[in-house]
This record gives sequence, structure tokens and C-alpha cells, in this order.
Amino acid sequence: MSFEKVDKRDLYRCVSCGNCRSVCPAFEQTGRESKNTRGRILIIRGIYEGKLDDESVFDSINSCTTCGYCTETCPAGVNPPKLVEAARAGLTKTGKMTPTQMRIRDTVAQYSNTLGVDGDRLGWLKEAGLNETGLNETGLKEAGLNETGLNETGLKEAEGEAKTKIKAVYFVGCLDSYRYPQTALKTYKILKNLGAGLLENEKCCGSPLIRLGFDREAADLIKHNAEQVKKSGADTIIAGCAGCFNTLKNDYALEGITVTTVSEYILSHISELKDWLAAENSDIHKLDIPVTYHDPCHSGRHNRVFDAPRALIREIVGAGNFKEMTNIREKSRCCGGGGGVRSGYNELSLAMAKSRLRDVPAGVQYIITTCPLCLRNLSDAGGDIPVIDIVELLSMATEK
Ligand code: SF4
Ligand code: SF4
Repeated sequence: MSFEKVDKRDLYRCVSCGNCRSVCPAFEQTGRESKNTRGRILIIRGIYEGKLDDESVFDSINSCTTCGYCTETCPAGVNPPKLVEAARAGLTKTGKMTPTQMRIRDTVAQYSNTLGVDGDRLGWLKEAGLNETGLNETGLKEAGLNETGLNETGLKEAEGEAKTKIKAVYFVGCLDSYRYPQTALKTYKILKNLGAGLLENEKCCGSPLIRLGFDREAADLIKHNAEQVKKSGADTIIAGCAGCFNTLKNDYALEGITVTTVSEYILSHISELKDWLAAENSDIHKLDIPVTYHDPCHSGRHNRVFDAPRALIREIVGAGNFKEMTNIREKSRCCGGGGGVRSGYNELSLAMAKSRLRDVPAGVQYIITTCPLCLRNLSDAGGDIPVIDIVELLSMATEK
């Protein structure tokens, strides 16, 4: 089978040492050789060599969350999640896919989001009485603008001017747009005061399609969103989701555009944020509550965003109230939600999340994270401690 994405050196570089077995979250739960990294690579070789291409390989190939922990431990320098994604792409290209893969592909094609919601992606903004400019009706009138946020006279010039004023765009993502609209709103309220705007017509970033092997289908979304970014005039994208961040940073070829996370952006604009809060008679009031932080795999391990969320949390609760989990940073264990596993193997996904919750230190009031998929999966695993987005914590600290 032709695997366009497979790095053949990687495929045959694996020496079957089994180092990766001890860290694979799917193997931890199943104990099955076919569901650990080494077994998956042997199966991928079989697919590549044309010896295996029936449904018997699906559970092995599709139960990988693409967490990347195995990459950290591999002495041969193999990148197993890339091989898994390539194998999925090779199989889907010949029409071989699970019902879950097919459903996600069709849902994104129909609705431009992973959730199958046929609603306004910016509904959260409109419900709050705001438009894309961040102004309400009164604000618009006071600013002499119409509902598009543009001046009636000299629309074209005003449009050009408005565009150049946006230095960054907040890429909201499917989950916050439709499942966590309050987080989207709180994030946007902060970011717009730090110079950020929104894309006029954001669509799914394409991450679920790429992880599941639908590169060609993702290409249309990438093209669309890239054009939207260009149109905005911004030189920075601030992603509100670890999966979007990883995809925008590594799967989009955006020349001259910086892709960053919400925590990094807020932290690098912290004095501007404090100035704005002061003007509003507010501040970041230190919250005297003990919290911990879960590293999302796709911002943490895959892109090394470890320090900014921790620094922001310490800014909010003080260093003494920040307690680390047992396995952190590049050794952070996966929430179990990524790579299509939450949708395709929900029981396994929740078992991984339960296992991750055992890393939570005693006595914390909140588990903080920076990814809505981690938030969702860890919350669904049924622990006693609420899992919240870092922006929710910041909002608690800035409430008057
Ligand atoms: S990426 Fe994660 S789930 Fe996939 S094989 Fe590696 S350790 Fe296992
Ligand atoms: S650690 Fe690397 S070389 Fe060893 S079995 Fe895993 S992927 Fe192969």
C-alpha cells in the first residue's frame, strides 16, 4: 500500500525494544500487544508491505490517542504518532475506515465542525449582545458604526483600517464555540482588550480530520482558514484549544504568522492586561485556592508549551497554591481524548482519563487545563474535583 505520509526510515528504525510499552496509555488499560506502540508499528509495517489491510487492523491503529509519550521514550528516535496518522491516511485513501472515522469525516464536511451543530459558530458572541468587533449596539452607535462594525461612509477605507488594527486573531475552535461558549466569551473579552479580534468565518481547523487520516478533506478547511487569517491582517493566531494550536502551527504553512496559545499570549501581555483591568477598577486578585495543572499532549509534549500556563496560574493563585500532578510536562499522561479515541473507543478513553485523575495531588480545588477536549474527557471520567479552563480561573480572579 502506498503511504504518502509514512517516513519509511521511521517504520524500519523501530527495533522492537518495547521501551514504549510502559508509557502507552492504551496499553496500560488493555494490556494488549496490538494496542501498544511496538505492536502498532509491526501492524503498520504489515499494512505498508501489503500483508495486512482488513478490518482486523482497525482497533490497533485507531486506539492510539496520538499523545506522543512513546516518542519521548524511544531510543531509536521513532515518531510513532506520525506513523499511526500515516497508516490511517493510507487506509482511508483506499476506503478502509471505521464507522467513527466515516461519521467524523461526514459531520465535518456537512457542518464545518466536529459536533454536527447546524448553528452560528459565533452564537456565543451574539448572545452576549456583541458582534465581531466586540461592541454592542450602543457601542456601535457611539462609535458611529453600523452593525458590521464599519463606518457607513468610506466603507472600503474603513474596512482596510479596521483590518490593520487587529494584530492577532483568537481562533476559538469547535468545542469552545459550541460546547463551552462561556469560556469562548471570557477568553474573547480578555483578548480583545489585548488587541485581538476574530476571524469573520472560522471553520474547524481540520485537526480531527488530519489525526484520523483525512488529509485531503482537511486541505479545504486549511485553505479556507488560512485565507481568513490573511484577510484579517493579523500576524498572530491565538488558539483556544491544544488540538487547534498544534494543527495551526504544524499543519498550516502560514508564512510570517505566529501561532500561540491563550496562556502564552496573555502572559506576554500581562502588563497591558493589568492596565486595562485598572482602568476598569479591577485587578488580578490573588485567589487563595490550591490548584493543579494538566498538560494537554498537543500543546505540551508536541509543542513544548509547559511554562506559560504554569506561570499564569502562579500569577493568579500564588506559587504556594500551585501543586504539580505526579506526571508532568513531557511525562504528562494523556487524558485519553485525542486521536479520535474519545469518539471511537469511549470506554477505553474514559479509563485513560480515570488513570490520569490518579495523578492529581491531594487537597486541590481545581484541575486547570488549556484544552476543551482534555477538560471534557477528564470531567466525564467522574472525579470529585472540577476541571476548568485557565481562562475561567483568570476570570474568577478579575471579578470585581
Ligand atoms: S502516541 Fe500515545 S497512545 Fe499512541 S502509541 Fe504512542 S504512547 Fe500509545
Ligand atoms: S521504543 Fe522505539 S524502537 Fe523501541 S519498540 Fe518502541 S517505537 Fe520501537
